[in-house]
Amino acid sequence: MIVFDLACSHDHVFEAWFGSTDDFEAQAARGLVACPICEDSHVRKAAMAPAVPAKGNRKSPVDAKAALAALAHMQAEVEANAEYVGTDFAETARAVHFGDTPKRAIYGEASLVEAAALVEDGIDIAPLPFATRRARDS
Ligand SMILES: [Zn+2]
Repeated sequence: MIVFDLACSHDHVFEAWFGSTDDFEAQAARGLVACPICEDSHVRKAAMAPAVPAKGNRKSPVDAKAALAALAHMQAEVEANAEYVGTDFAETARAVHFGDTPKRAIYGEASLVEAAALVEDGIDIAPLPFATRRARDS
């Protein structure tokens, strides 16, 4: 999704989200994009300040590339070192915690309610910042 600053023929500026630049152009050409203030469908992209960092200040606050690389690394580590238990995560985490099953690192899916119950029971869990295998495959 991309956000565009758009302007109608009365220079009302508003924001709208599109799947892509092509999406915007196709919808605008068919008159499907209208100004929320005057409903004019003659919209164009409004002039925007270029998102280029000023000279001498090229370091962005978040290095997206490094962050993604760290995420990919973390995902590889988890997938290599932990057992995927799918939707049995809450049950398995409990069993591991109480020694009913061999101690090991696991990952999988849990609902918010299940996750909250695990935390309440003092079981250490952490949300993963990436989609698990099942979520990605479905
Ligand atoms: Zn307008």
